[in-house]
Amino acid sequence: MDFKDDVQLDSSQTESRGRGIPGGGLAVGGGAAGIVALIVALIFGINPGDVTGGEPAAVGPTSDLSAQCKTGKDADQNEECRVVGVVNSIQDYWPKVVQGYEPAKTVMFSGQVDTACGAADASVGPFYCPADRQVYLDLSFFKQLESQFGAKGGPFAQAYVIGHEYGHHVQNLLGTSAKAEGGEQQGPESSSVRLELQADCYSGAWAKNAYETGVFEKPFTKADIEEALSAASAVGDDSIQERTQGRVNPDGFTHGTSAQRVKWFTTGYETGDPAKCDTFAGSI
Ligand SMILES: [Zn+2]
Repeated sequence: MDFKDDVQLDSSQTESRGRGIPGGGLAVGGGAAGIVALIVALIFGINPGDVTGGEPAAVGPTSDLSAQCKTGKDADQNEECRVVGVVNSIQDYWPKVVQGYEPAKTVMFSGQVDTACGAADASVGPFYCPADRQVYLDLSFFKQLESQFGAKGGPFAQAYVIGHEYGHHVQNLLGTSAKAEGGEQQGPESSSVRLELQADCYSGAWAKNAYETGVFEKPFTKADIEEALSAASAVGDDSIQERTQGRVNPDGFTHGTSAQRVKWFTTGYETGDPAKCDTFAGSI
């Protein structure tokens, strides 16, 4: 993944809140409580009800992304600026395919954050809050993805996750999320699983069209895509259950199996067409 050196970044689509607090590190502990939080959350998305109130968010110094992240060169060198660049590309893509697309901001945070969906900490993983239409990202999550979930990691693993969250934003704008709310929230064929797999597929559709957004130096490589597939596989419900409970229980699925997540990202990537992401029709 290589940004065009001289492309101008638009840092107004992102915000860095409370990062860089001394001692304000990863909120995920070990032990049973940590594991429960991961089961609920580790999936790139939460039901708003899963984010419970708690201590008010620690608001630390806000780093000034507009000063820090000016060009593609900055995105190649700095993780926060890379998020800015990826978000810019995603939000250049979607208005071309979704009429009336409205931009959504990504908030990078450290430790805890207050959202219109409640207070959240790093243990819930990246998520989209429909109530304030913002994506929330604790960058420490990506290290966890490698260390605890065995994903390959890398810049494109991160891009896949951000693409997935914006997929939820698109679902929100199109009314898909509202429709899915009435359906089953758990189980192998549940509305929740279908919604999540569609978000993976949308992420793939963006990836296929990302080069045309003018932000990147060259189209994504096979190695880039492998980072996404590795991440998608690592966060499959079956893999997470196996790792945390030692067995697989399909009745508890909320996001789809590893194989399904890989399959739907790939469908989006190979077709480059969000219309092919119809996970609500037929078998998944
Ligand atoms: Zn999700």
